[in-house]
Amino acid sequence: MALPDKRGYFGDYGGKFVPEILMYALEELEKTYEEACNDPQFLDQFSYLMANYVGRPTPLYYAARLSDYLGGAKIYLKREDLCHTGAHKINNALAQCLLALRMGKKRIIAETGAGQHGVATATASAMLGLECDIYMGAVDVKRQELNVFRMELLGARVISVEQGSKILKDAINEALRDWVTNVDTTHYVLGTVAGPHPFPRMVRDFQSVIGREAIKQIKASEDRMPDLLVACVGGGSNSMGLFYPFINEPSVEMVGVEAGGFGIPTGLHAARFQGGKKGVFQGALSYVLQDEDGQITETHSVSAGLDYASVGPEHCHLRDLKRCKYVSVTDDVALEGFSLLCKLEGIIPALESSHAVGYLIENPPEKGKVVILNLSGRGDKDVQVAKQELQKRKHSHD
Ligand SMILES: *Cc1c(COP(=O)(O)O)cnc(C)c1O
Repeated sequence: MALPDKRGYFGDYGGKFVPEILMYALEELEKTYEEACNDPQFLDQFSYLMANYVGRPTPLYYAARLSDYLGGAKIYLKREDLCHTGAHKINNALAQCLLALRMGKKRIIAETGAGQHGVATATASAMLGLECDIYMGAVDVKRQELNVFRMELLGARVISVEQGSKILKDAINEALRDWVTNVDTTHYVLGTVAGPHPFPRMVRDFQSVIGREAIKQIKASEDRMPDLLVACVGGGSNSMGLFYPFINEPSVEMVGVEAGGFGIPTGLHAARFQGGKKGVFQGALSYVLQDEDGQITETHSVSAGLDYASVGPEHCHLRDLKRCKYVSVTDDVALEGFSLLCKLEGIIPALESSHAVGYLIENPPEKGKVVILNLSGRGDKDVQVAKQELQKRKHSHD
């Protein structure tokens, strides 16, 4: 049976835990989404923009030198880093902005941590002529100055959130609050496969273009299915986008890589499946990093895009079913992956995607295997952090 069920559940996870006033907005969104999926005019406009604005299909690139270095399995990179704005996030942001237009809503709000989803949403809003407000924790506003300026260049207003710990989760709370107040005129573009139903399903479907393209491309180059898919897991949208179209291919193994930060024993990480427990957080029942009292615990990752206390509900279900495996990779290993891809392939990856590279370094697949790694984004945004972190490590080795 296709999931989620009518109530928005994937097995035990998901659902709609929101104030009454948002129930109607979520139902309207679900209905609009379903109608749009069956409207040839909408689908034409969407595929025109995916091809000519986003730059799809993205290439599936055979990384010969990386493959050789890791012992001979054939490693292909799905190049989401080549999308407009530099990551997969635009696939979803664009689609949701089109749905907003269809609902007659002229104002967009979104949350952002590192700024990537904010930039993608501001971009799509500019192109479609929508008003756009982006909520961002005050700590992140300081950390991500350049992305704040980017969003402003694109015509968005960035609202600095002073509540709580002033990071992503607090920005989401404020965006939800805004949505409750302005639900008649405003659509909330949620950036990943988390939050209340129908977001996890809708965002999965929008990102599944990644896996659908990858199937065609790997058949063209290898004439068979891959043995292994690897992708990093923040909220879980780039991984779900790659995995989902392969779900019914039992021979294809799937590995989601969470942020191991300073290492699981330190407690400073964002590996929900290593240290998390079931809980309701920001609209859905999922795995959450929390203390004994259910308070959200502090997370850490060198990559801002993986640094979130919860994870999409469908991943929890796929883990229960043992269909996908979830592992973690530390900051150190992710940085190794980052440097390796730069030197061997001439590609500067996002620090998020570098976690997937790190997994292959630690677990090199056997010769003869065919692997697809989702390169979710490019690393231009991360060079400053990478410089600091790599210098720190170099000094500690001297
Ligand atoms: C935001 C982001 C991620 C993490 O989000 P998912 O929803 O897990 O995909 C991963 N990679 C990049 C480049 C990102 O910008």
